[in-house]
Amino acid sequence: MSSIVCVRCGRTAEPMSEPPTGGPLGRQVQASVCPDCWAEWREVSGRVIAHYGLNMGNPDHRHQLRELMKEFLNLAPGHQDQAGQ
Ligand SMILES: [Zn+2]
Repeated sequence: MSSIVCVRCGRTAEPMSEPPTGGPLGRQVQASVCPDCWAEWREVSGRVIAHYGLNMGNPDHRHQLRELMKEFLNLAPGHQDQAGQ
């Protein structure tokens, strides 16, 4: 796969070898976000989950975390994904 320009940090980088999360959003992240920024989100998401007491078994909480992830990673808004997918 050719290199990508990260939407968060603006650097040109090699994309992650696999989508880091499931579904269309995972492919969008792989195509738009560099591995460094994803690693940063992984750290932040751990703190967010602890801070808000999010339960990943709860679809509402997963949805909330996805929205925060899109905001953090600067992914294009308007990308609708199904709750609980
Ligand atoms: Zn980046």
